Amino acid sequence: MSRVYNFSAGPAVLPEEVLKEAAEEMMDYRGCGMSVMEMSHRSKMFQQIIDDAEADIRTLLSIPDNYKVLFLQGGASQQFAAVPMNLMVNKKACYIQTGQWAKKAAQEAKLYGDVHIVASSEDKTYSYIPDCSDLPIDDDADYVYICENNTIYGTKYKTLPNTKGKLLVSDVSSCFLSEPMDITKYGVVYGGVQKNVGPAGLVISIIREDLIRDEVLPGTPTMLKWKTQADNGSLYNTPNCYAIYICGKVFKWLLNNGGLSEMQRKNEEKAALLYDFLDSSKLFKGTVRKEDRSVMNVPFITGDEELDAKFVAESKAAGMENLKGHRTVGGMRASIYNAMPKAGVEKLVSFMEDFEKKNLK
Ligand SMILES: *Cc1c(COP(=O)(O)O)cnc(C)c1O
Repeated sequence: MSRVYNFSAGPAVLPEEVLKEAAEEMMDYRGCGMSVMEMSHRSKMFQQIIDDAEADIRTLLSIPDNYKVLFLQGGASQQFAAVPMNLMVNKKACYIQTGQWAKKAAQEAKLYGDVHIVASSEDKTYSYIPDCSDLPIDDDADYVYICENNTIYGTKYKTLPNTKGKLLVSDVSSCFLSEPMDITKYGVVYGGVQKNVGPAGLVISIIREDLIRDEVLPGTPTMLKWKTQADNGSLYNTPNCYAIYICGKVFKWLLNNGGLSEMQRKNEEKAALLYDFLDSSKLFKGTVRKEDRSVMNVPFITGDEELDAKFVAESKAAGMENLKGHRTVGGMRASIYNAMPKAGVEKLVSFMEDFEKKNLK
């Protein structure tokens, strides 16, 4: 067996301990004679798995009792529709456009009401987070929407926007569980888990209880009504059982490794290795304004497309996969999520040093 260093933006690297444990339990989960993939979602065994997962994520994020945790399908993209369907009482919302995911969310919301783009960084290829201290938030806006870590462009909000008292909704897909967060500052937080937490096909939504309403937009599908899911403990229909099980293992792994403060320390240390090198390099450069840099997704370029392609090919041959940038922006991107060991980033940096020596004209 040989494992590569996988810098994929998602689906992405998972902790080896978790994969090993899942492999050990594959044929016979804790003496029940079957795998988690084969058991009823109505069984006691599975109920224990989902209950434990919820309890552990509550501990990790210190989620207050007046917030529900829902394990849903359809990915983060499905929540782009669920958010307006459940929240647009006044049919108006403010969106901050910091990249493709925020833009897609805004476009989806436009199907259901007025969408006001109150700030955008599109003018500079989304390479920064706009000043959000005094935005023109509408008095009758139902919520203010952000994408907190921009997976493709590598930016991250270091301070949350001033929503002028309106509800904040945040897509945290690519920074989910990378650091502690204060859930009370949000109305809704959700993340597709395949970036930093688990396998694809599951989105976890953390929603303040009073926002889980009977009155939703007319025509909202039963499945997209948060109330349906909340009333049924995320088991209205068959959930993504296996993904919930793996996420549960990742939550335990996080708890056993010092929780989210320790994870943040490690993540910042890994990111600093890479950013410090980028800042001193004569060949490579980061593409994001310094104060807005993501600790999870690090895009960089040489400024020469041919050289970028050579870098991607040679790094792959050296055992570092998926360093190619997103198809829409080119260049390179290293996603260095929780499960990426420091040794992986060290190897990348030393490979970049070498590549620079050989290719700097
Ligand atoms: C990947 C990603 C999405 C889309 O996730 P799906 O689960 O594929 O729908 C949405 N938002 C962000 C920030 C992402 O990184």
